[in-house]
Amino acid sequence: MSKYSFIETELHNRDAQHQRRTLQPIIPKSAVEVDAGGRTLINFCSNDYLGLSKHPLLKKRAAAFLEKYGAGSTASRLICGNFDCFDLVEKKLASLKGYEAALTMSTGFQANMTILPALSDRNTLIVSDWLNHNSIIQGTLLSRCRVIRFRHNDTGHLKQILQENAGSAYSRTLIVTESVFSMDGDVSDIDELADIAEAFNALLIVDEAHATGVMGQDGMGLTCGKGVDITIGTFGKACGCFGSYIACSQKVREYLINCCPGFIYTTALPPPVIGAIDAALAIIPDMDEERRELHRKADLLRKAIQDLGWSTGDSSTQIIPVLMGNEEEALSLSAWLEKHGILATAIRPPTVAQGQSRIRFTLSASHRDAHLDHLIASLKEYKARYGHQLP
Ligand SMILES: *Cc1c(COP(=O)(O)O)cnc(C)c1O
Repeated sequence: MSKYSFIETELHNRDAQHQRRTLQPIIPKSAVEVDAGGRTLINFCSNDYLGLSKHPLLKKRAAAFLEKYGAGSTASRLICGNFDCFDLVEKKLASLKGYEAALTMSTGFQANMTILPALSDRNTLIVSDWLNHNSIIQGTLLSRCRVIRFRHNDTGHLKQILQENAGSAYSRTLIVTESVFSMDGDVSDIDELADIAEAFNALLIVDEAHATGVMGQDGMGLTCGKGVDITIGTFGKACGCFGSYIACSQKVREYLINCCPGFIYTTALPPPVIGAIDAALAIIPDMDEERRELHRKADLLRKAIQDLGWSTGDSSTQIIPVLMGNEEEALSLSAWLEKHGILATAIRPPTVAQGQSRIRFTLSASHRDAHLDHLIASLKEYKARYGHQLP
Protein backbone atom coordinates (compact mmCIF):
# COMPACT_ATOMS: atom_id res chain seq x y z
CA MET A 1 0.00 0.00 0.00
CA SER A 2 1.32 3.45 -0.88
CA LYS A 3 2.15 5.67 2.05
CA TYR A 4 0.10 8.33 0.26
CA SER A 5 -3.05 6.24 -0.04
CA PHE A 6 -4.83 8.07 2.79
CA ILE A 7 -4.43 11.28 0.80
CA GLU A 8 -5.86 9.71 -2.36
CA THR A 9 -8.77 8.35 -0.36
CA GLU A 10 -9.58 11.65 1.29
CA LEU A 11 -9.39 13.68 -1.93
CA HIS A 12 -11.55 11.08 -3.65
CA ASN A 13 -14.13 11.37 -0.86
CA ARG A 14 -14.14 15.13 -1.18
CA ASP A 15 -14.75 14.82 -4.93
CA ALA A 16 -17.58 12.35 -4.40
CA GLN A 17 -19.28 14.74 -1.98
CA HIS A 18 -18.71 17.87 -4.07
CA GLN A 19 -16.50 19.11 -1.25
CA ARG A 20 -13.13 19.28 -2.97
CA ARG A 21 -11.68 22.75 -2.50
CA THR A 22 -9.27 24.42 -4.86
CA LEU A 23 -7.41 27.71 -4.81
CA GLN A 24 -8.50 30.26 -7.43
CA PRO A 25 -6.00 32.98 -8.31
CA ILE A 26 -7.43 36.49 -8.38
CA ILE A 27 -6.00 39.98 -8.62
CA PRO A 28 -7.60 42.61 -6.38
CA LYS A 29 -8.69 45.64 -8.41
CA SER A 30 -10.34 47.75 -5.75
CA ALA A 31 -11.80 47.18 -2.31
CA VAL A 32 -14.82 45.51 -3.94
CA GLU A 33 -13.61 44.28 -7.33
CA VAL A 34 -11.30 41.49 -8.39
CA ASP A 35 -9.90 40.28 -11.67
CA ALA A 36 -10.50 36.54 -12.03
CA GLY A 37 -9.03 35.06 -15.20
CA GLY A 38 -9.36 38.33 -17.12
CA ARG A 39 -12.92 39.09 -15.94
CA THR A 40 -13.79 41.74 -13.40
CA LEU A 41 -16.07 40.44 -10.66
CA ILE A 42 -17.81 42.39 -7.92
CA ASN A 43 -16.56 40.92 -4.68
CA PHE A 44 -19.30 39.97 -2.24
CA CYS A 45 -17.29 37.64 -0.04
CA SER A 46 -14.42 39.68 1.35
CA ASN A 47 -14.07 40.67 5.01
CA ASP A 48 -12.77 44.10 4.03
CA TYR A 49 -15.94 45.62 5.48
CA LEU A 50 -14.73 49.22 5.41
CA GLY A 51 -12.57 48.99 2.31
CA LEU A 52 -9.49 49.81 4.38
CA SER A 53 -7.19 47.31 2.63
CA LYS A 54 -6.76 49.85 -0.17
CA HIS A 55 -6.89 52.98 1.99
CA PRO A 56 -4.08 55.46 1.19
CA LEU A 57 -3.28 56.11 4.86
CA LEU A 58 -2.78 52.40 5.60
CA LYS A 59 -0.50 52.02 2.62
CA LYS A 60 1.39 55.17 3.48
CA ARG A 61 1.96 54.29 7.12
CA ALA A 62 2.86 50.70 6.23
CA ALA A 63 5.49 52.12 3.89
CA ALA A 64 6.73 54.58 6.54
CA PHE A 65 7.11 51.81 9.14
CA LEU A 66 8.79 49.60 6.54
CA GLU A 67 11.28 52.38 5.91
CA LYS A 68 11.88 53.13 9.58
CA TYR A 69 11.94 49.63 11.10
CA GLY A 70 12.60 47.27 8.16
CA ALA A 71 10.65 44.44 6.61
CA GLY A 72 10.76 42.07 9.56
CA SER A 73 10.81 42.30 13.32
CA THR A 74 13.76 39.89 13.54
CA ALA A 75 12.70 37.93 16.64
CA SER A 76 10.08 37.21 19.24
CA ARG A 77 8.86 40.19 21.26
CA LEU A 78 10.66 38.71 24.27
CA ILE A 79 14.05 38.51 22.53
CA CYS A 80 14.64 41.68 20.51
CA GLY A 81 11.47 42.04 18.46
CA ASN A 82 9.64 44.43 20.76
CA PHE A 83 10.07 47.60 18.73
CA ASP A 84 8.57 50.67 20.38
CA CYS A 85 5.76 50.75 17.79
CA PHE A 86 4.20 47.60 19.29
CA ASP A 87 3.63 49.15 22.69
CA LEU A 88 2.28 52.34 21.14
CA VAL A 89 -0.26 50.49 19.02
CA GLU A 90 -1.30 48.30 21.96
CA LYS A 91 -1.85 51.34 24.20
CA LYS A 92 -3.95 52.98 21.50
CA LEU A 93 -6.01 49.83 21.04
CA ALA A 94 -6.53 49.24 24.76
CA SER A 95 -7.82 52.76 25.16
CA LEU A 96 -10.16 52.44 22.15
CA LYS A 97 -11.52 49.12 23.42
CA GLY A 98 -11.90 50.41 26.95
CA TYR A 99 -9.53 47.84 28.45
CA GLU A 100 -6.50 48.32 30.67
CA ALA A 101 -4.22 46.57 28.22
CA ALA A 102 -3.87 44.92 24.83
CA LEU A 103 -1.47 42.52 23.19
CA THR A 104 -0.96 41.97 19.46
CA MET A 105 -0.64 38.43 18.16
CA SER A 106 0.22 36.98 14.76
CA THR A 107 -3.27 36.05 13.56
CA GLY A 108 -6.69 35.52 15.01
CA PHE A 109 -6.33 31.84 14.31
CA GLN A 110 -3.09 31.67 16.24
CA ALA A 111 -4.48 33.78 19.09
CA ASN A 112 -7.47 31.49 19.63
CA MET A 113 -5.43 28.37 19.22
CA THR A 114 -2.84 29.38 21.78
CA ILE A 115 -4.68 31.51 24.31
CA LEU A 116 -7.22 28.87 25.38
CA PRO A 117 -4.57 26.28 26.30
CA ALA A 118 -2.54 29.04 27.99
CA LEU A 119 -5.51 29.84 30.24
CA SER A 120 -6.39 26.19 30.95
CA ASP A 121 -4.98 23.31 32.90
CA ARG A 122 -6.13 19.69 32.76
CA ASN A 123 -8.82 20.40 35.38
CA THR A 124 -10.39 23.35 33.58
CA LEU A 125 -13.91 23.35 32.18
CA ILE A 126 -14.38 25.15 28.85
CA VAL A 127 -17.94 25.88 27.77
CA SER A 128 -18.00 26.83 24.11
CA ASP A 129 -20.73 27.90 21.64
CA TRP A 130 -21.56 25.23 19.04
CA LEU A 131 -20.89 27.59 16.15
CA ASN A 132 -17.55 28.92 17.35
CA HIS A 133 -14.87 29.38 14.70
CA ASN A 134 -12.52 26.51 13.91
CA SER A 135 -9.59 28.32 15.56
CA ILE A 136 -11.51 28.27 18.86
CA ILE A 137 -12.26 24.58 18.41
CA GLN A 138 -8.56 23.92 17.81
CA GLY A 139 -7.77 25.91 20.96
CA THR A 140 -10.20 23.88 23.04
CA LEU A 141 -8.72 20.63 21.70
CA LEU A 142 -5.20 21.75 22.57
CA SER A 143 -6.38 22.66 26.07
CA ARG A 144 -6.77 18.93 26.80
CA CYS A 145 -9.43 19.58 29.40
CA ARG A 146 -13.18 19.00 29.60
CA VAL A 147 -14.99 20.89 26.86
CA ILE A 148 -18.77 21.15 26.71
CA ARG A 149 -20.47 22.91 23.81
CA PHE A 150 -23.64 24.89 24.40
CA ARG A 151 -26.36 25.24 21.75
CA HIS A 152 -25.68 28.21 19.54
CA ASN A 153 -26.48 31.50 21.29
CA ASP A 154 -28.61 29.61 23.84
CA THR A 155 -27.75 31.25 27.16
CA GLY A 156 -30.33 29.05 28.89
CA HIS A 157 -28.38 25.98 27.80
CA LEU A 158 -25.12 27.65 28.84
CA LYS A 159 -26.53 28.32 32.32
CA GLN A 160 -27.82 24.77 32.59
CA ILE A 161 -24.37 23.38 31.80
CA LEU A 162 -22.75 25.69 34.33
CA GLN A 163 -25.30 24.75 36.99
CA GLU A 164 -24.84 21.03 36.34
CA ASN A 165 -21.11 21.41 36.76
CA ALA A 166 -21.09 23.91 39.62
CA GLY A 167 -20.37 21.29 42.27
CA SER A 168 -17.50 19.69 40.35
CA ALA A 169 -13.89 20.22 41.27
CA TYR A 170 -12.84 22.17 38.21
CA SER A 171 -9.88 24.47 38.70
CA ARG A 172 -11.62 27.21 36.65
CA THR A 173 -14.29 27.72 34.04
CA LEU A 174 -13.93 29.49 30.69
CA ILE A 175 -16.90 30.58 28.59
CA VAL A 176 -15.90 31.09 24.96
CA THR A 177 -18.02 32.63 22.25
CA GLU A 178 -18.11 35.20 19.44
CA SER A 179 -19.88 38.54 19.30
CA VAL A 180 -20.71 38.36 15.56
CA PHE A 181 -20.73 34.82 14.18
CA SER A 182 -18.72 34.34 11.04
CA MET A 183 -20.99 32.05 9.03
CA ASP A 184 -24.40 33.30 10.16
CA GLY A 185 -23.88 37.00 10.81
CA ASP A 186 -25.93 36.85 14.00
CA VAL A 187 -24.98 38.50 17.25
CA SER A 188 -24.62 37.20 20.79
CA ASP A 189 -26.04 38.87 23.90
CA ILE A 190 -22.90 40.18 25.56
CA ASP A 191 -24.69 41.69 28.60
CA GLU A 192 -26.36 38.39 29.38
CA LEU A 193 -23.14 36.45 28.87
CA ALA A 194 -21.27 38.84 31.18
CA ASP A 195 -23.94 38.38 33.87
CA ILE A 196 -23.72 34.60 33.57
CA ALA A 197 -19.93 34.66 33.71
CA GLU A 198 -20.10 36.82 36.81
CA ALA A 199 -22.70 34.60 38.50
CA PHE A 200 -20.63 31.46 37.92
CA ASN A 201 -17.25 33.07 38.52
CA ALA A 202 -16.20 32.09 35.00
CA LEU A 203 -13.77 33.84 32.67
CA LEU A 204 -15.61 35.17 29.62
CA ILE A 205 -13.68 35.18 26.35
CA VAL A 206 -15.28 36.74 23.28
CA ASP A 207 -14.00 36.67 19.70
CA GLU A 208 -14.78 39.95 17.91
CA ALA A 209 -13.25 39.04 14.54
CA HIS A 210 -16.29 40.25 12.59
CA ALA A 211 -17.35 43.03 14.95
CA THR A 212 -14.08 44.95 15.21
CA GLY A 213 -14.31 48.02 12.97
CA VAL A 214 -18.01 47.73 12.18
CA MET A 215 -20.06 47.29 15.35
CA GLY A 216 -20.44 49.16 18.60
CA GLN A 217 -19.32 52.58 19.77
CA ASP A 218 -16.68 54.00 17.40
CA GLY A 219 -16.74 50.66 15.59
CA MET A 220 -14.70 49.14 18.36
CA GLY A 221 -16.86 46.05 18.78
CA LEU A 222 -19.63 44.85 21.05
CA THR A 223 -17.64 43.99 24.16
CA CYS A 224 -16.39 47.48 25.05
CA GLY A 225 -17.27 48.40 28.61
CA LYS A 226 -19.27 45.19 29.13
CA GLY A 227 -17.07 43.45 31.66
CA VAL A 228 -15.88 40.77 29.24
CA ASP A 229 -12.63 39.39 30.67
CA ILE A 230 -10.84 38.86 27.39
CA THR A 231 -11.69 40.06 23.92
CA ILE A 232 -9.91 38.64 20.90
CA GLY A 233 -10.05 40.31 17.51
CA THR A 234 -8.37 40.29 14.16
CA PHE A 235 -6.86 43.11 12.11
CA GLY A 236 -7.31 41.03 8.94
CA LYS A 237 -10.99 41.85 8.43
CA ALA A 238 -12.52 45.32 8.81
CA CYS A 239 -9.10 46.74 9.75
CA GLY A 240 -7.93 45.82 6.25
CA CYS A 241 -4.51 44.47 7.14
CA PHE A 242 -3.30 41.52 9.22
CA GLY A 243 -2.61 40.33 12.72
CA SER A 244 -4.77 40.07 15.80
CA TYR A 245 -5.17 41.41 19.30
CA ILE A 246 -6.17 40.48 22.78
CA ALA A 247 -7.76 43.15 24.97
CA CYS A 248 -7.67 42.36 28.67
CA SER A 249 -6.47 43.53 32.07
CA GLN A 250 -2.85 44.43 32.74
CA LYS A 251 -2.52 41.22 34.81
CA VAL A 252 -3.83 38.97 32.04
CA ARG A 253 -1.45 40.66 29.60
CA GLU A 254 1.48 39.98 31.95
CA TYR A 255 0.33 36.39 32.30
CA LEU A 256 0.12 35.85 28.54
CA ILE A 257 3.55 37.40 27.96
CA ASN A 258 4.88 34.80 30.40
CA CYS A 259 2.68 31.79 29.72
CA CYS A 260 1.29 31.89 26.17
CA PRO A 261 3.48 29.82 23.79
CA GLY A 262 1.87 31.34 20.67
CA PHE A 263 3.08 34.73 21.85
CA ILE A 264 6.45 33.73 23.24
CA TYR A 265 7.78 31.41 20.55
CA THR A 266 6.96 33.30 17.40
CA THR A 267 8.40 36.22 15.49
CA ALA A 268 6.67 39.53 16.20
CA LEU A 269 4.42 41.00 13.50
CA PRO A 270 6.30 42.74 10.65
CA PRO A 271 6.66 46.53 11.16
CA PRO A 272 4.72 47.49 7.98
CA VAL A 273 1.77 45.53 9.37
CA ILE A 274 2.01 47.46 12.64
CA GLY A 275 2.05 50.67 10.58
CA ALA A 276 -1.13 49.64 8.75
CA ILE A 277 -2.80 48.67 12.06
CA ASP A 278 -1.82 52.02 13.53
CA ALA A 279 -3.43 53.82 10.59
CA ALA A 280 -6.58 51.67 10.74
CA LEU A 281 -7.00 52.46 14.44
CA ALA A 282 -6.61 56.16 13.68
CA ILE A 283 -9.33 56.09 11.00
CA ILE A 284 -11.93 53.61 12.26
CA PRO A 285 -13.47 55.71 15.06
CA ASP A 286 -14.28 58.40 12.49
CA MET A 287 -16.08 56.03 10.11
CA ASP A 288 -19.59 56.20 11.57
CA GLU A 289 -20.95 57.33 8.21
CA GLU A 290 -19.40 54.31 6.45
CA ARG A 291 -20.75 51.98 9.15
CA ARG A 292 -24.24 53.43 8.74
CA GLU A 293 -24.02 52.87 4.99
CA LEU A 294 -22.74 49.34 5.50
CA HIS A 295 -25.64 48.40 7.76
CA ARG A 296 -28.17 50.16 5.52
CA LYS A 297 -26.97 48.07 2.56
CA ALA A 298 -27.03 44.92 4.67
CA ASP A 299 -30.66 45.57 5.64
CA LEU A 300 -31.53 46.15 2.01
CA LEU A 301 -29.86 42.97 0.76
CA ARG A 302 -31.27 40.86 3.59
CA LYS A 303 -34.79 42.03 2.80
CA ALA A 304 -34.35 41.37 -0.94
CA ILE A 305 -33.11 37.82 -0.28
CA GLN A 306 -35.99 37.13 2.09
CA ASP A 307 -38.50 38.55 -0.40
CA LEU A 308 -37.21 35.99 -2.89
CA GLY A 309 -38.15 33.26 -0.46
CA TRP A 310 -34.75 32.36 0.94
CA SER A 311 -33.87 32.30 4.60
CA THR A 312 -31.08 34.48 5.93
CA GLY A 313 -31.21 32.80 9.33
CA ASP A 314 -30.69 35.16 12.26
CA SER A 315 -28.32 37.47 10.38
CA SER A 316 -28.47 41.08 11.53
CA THR A 317 -25.04 42.27 10.41
CA GLN A 318 -22.94 42.76 7.28
CA ILE A 319 -22.66 38.96 6.99
CA ILE A 320 -25.71 37.58 5.19
CA PRO A 321 -26.09 33.88 4.47
CA VAL A 322 -28.50 32.54 1.87
CA LEU A 323 -29.33 29.24 3.47
CA MET A 324 -29.71 26.67 0.69
CA GLY A 325 -29.17 23.31 2.33
CA ASN A 326 -27.41 21.09 -0.14
CA GLU A 327 -24.03 21.65 -1.69
CA GLU A 328 -25.10 21.37 -5.34
CA GLU A 329 -27.61 24.15 -4.92
CA ALA A 330 -25.13 26.46 -3.21
CA LEU A 331 -22.56 25.69 -5.89
CA SER A 332 -25.07 26.29 -8.67
CA LEU A 333 -26.03 29.72 -7.33
CA SER A 334 -22.37 30.61 -6.83
CA ALA A 335 -21.64 29.60 -10.45
CA TRP A 336 -24.66 31.56 -11.70
CA LEU A 337 -23.51 34.67 -9.87
CA GLU A 338 -20.00 34.31 -11.22
CA LYS A 339 -21.43 34.15 -14.74
CA HIS A 340 -23.12 37.44 -13.91
CA GLY A 341 -19.93 39.09 -12.72
CA ILE A 342 -20.30 38.44 -9.00
CA LEU A 343 -17.88 36.68 -6.71
CA ALA A 344 -19.71 34.88 -3.89
CA THR A 345 -18.19 31.62 -2.80
CA ALA A 346 -20.35 28.72 -1.69
CA ILE A 347 -19.76 27.69 1.91
CA ARG A 348 -20.28 24.00 2.55
CA PRO A 349 -19.32 21.20 4.89
CA PRO A 350 -17.07 20.76 6.71
CA THR A 351 -16.97 24.56 7.22
CA VAL A 352 -20.68 24.34 8.09
CA ALA A 353 -22.70 21.29 9.17
CA GLN A 354 -24.25 18.88 6.64
CA GLY A 355 -27.42 20.35 5.15
CA GLN A 356 -26.27 23.88 6.03
CA SER A 357 -24.60 24.78 2.74
CA ARG A 358 -25.00 28.39 1.81
CA ILE A 359 -23.83 31.38 -0.08
CA ARG A 360 -22.47 33.88 2.39
CA PHE A 361 -22.57 37.46 1.20
CA THR A 362 -20.40 39.94 3.01
CA LEU A 363 -20.85 43.63 2.36
CA SER A 364 -18.41 46.48 2.35
CA ALA A 365 -18.96 50.18 2.86
CA SER A 366 -17.17 50.49 -0.49
CA HIS A 367 -19.93 48.67 -2.41
CA ARG A 368 -21.91 51.14 -4.46
CA ASP A 369 -25.68 50.97 -4.82
CA ALA A 370 -25.20 49.86 -8.43
CA HIS A 371 -23.22 46.82 -7.19
CA LEU A 372 -26.01 45.89 -4.83
CA ASP A 373 -28.70 46.46 -7.48
CA HIS A 374 -26.85 44.16 -9.85
CA LEU A 375 -26.54 41.46 -7.19
CA ILE A 376 -30.24 41.65 -6.32
CA ALA A 377 -31.25 41.59 -10.02
CA SER A 378 -29.06 38.52 -10.58
CA LEU A 379 -30.59 36.73 -7.59
CA LYS A 380 -34.07 37.54 -8.90
CA GLU A 381 -33.22 36.18 -12.31
CA TYR A 382 -31.84 32.98 -10.80
CA LYS A 383 -34.94 32.53 -8.71
CA ALA A 384 -37.26 33.22 -11.66
CA ARG A 385 -35.43 30.72 -13.80
CA TYR A 386 -34.86 27.90 -11.36
CA GLY A 387 -37.17 28.47 -8.41
CA HIS A 388 -36.39 25.83 -5.86
CA GLN A 389 -35.30 23.37 -8.54
CA LEU A 390 -31.72 22.59 -9.38
CA PRO A 391 -30.75 23.73 -12.87
C1 LIG B 1 -11.37 34.99 10.69
C2 LIG B 1 -11.60 34.56 12.08
C3 LIG B 1 -10.53 34.25 12.92
C4 LIG B 1 -9.13 34.17 12.43
O1 LIG B 1 -8.55 35.41 12.29
P1 LIG B 1 -7.30 35.57 11.32
O2 LIG B 1 -6.64 36.81 11.77
O3 LIG B 1 -7.83 35.60 9.95
O4 LIG B 1 -6.45 34.35 11.53
C5 LIG B 1 -10.82 33.97 14.24
N1 LIG B 1 -12.07 33.96 14.71
C6 LIG B 1 -13.13 34.21 13.91
C7 LIG B 1 -14.50 34.20 14.48
C8 LIG B 1 -12.92 34.51 12.57
O5 LIG B 1 -13.96 34.73 11.77
